[in-house]
Amino acid sequence: MATLFSKIINREIPAEIVFENEYVVAFRDIQPQAPVHILIVPRAEISGLAELPDSGDHQHLLNAAKVIAEQEGLGGGYRVVINQGADAGQTVFHLHAHLLGGAPLGGFGVPGLDH
Ligand code: AMP
Repeated sequence: MATLFSKIINREIPAEIVFENEYVVAFRDIQPQAPVHILIVPRAEISGLAELPDSGDHQHLLNAAKVIAEQEGLGGGYRVVINQGADAGQTVFHLHAHLLGGAPLGGFGVPGLDH
């Protein structure tokens, strides 16, 4: 069965697509956690980073992040995040990178953990 993100890629579910090429499609997150919050999704249905094949065209995910960040005017900086599995709060099991920016993002990690 097609994943939610495959349905977006195939235009069966609407989304604001901001970038696409042969390998990836990127669209705005429906619940943005930053002024710019874009999901970059490989067209291939890989369920998560843990299932990433050992070889392939995976650099296109990061290349797309760089290009979209430029396109979105994120010269001040940005963050790229991949949530893998339950502890990371992964909710959609089709590999995706979050591109976050547009404001100072602060730290990240486990809330309450001393550094
Ligand atoms: P993750 O927790 O890493 O699996 O992230 C899944 C992300 O998908 C969340 O940030 C959701 O807000 C986002 N999301 C879920 N459904 C949609 C949708 N229909 N369009 C855009 N983003 C979505």
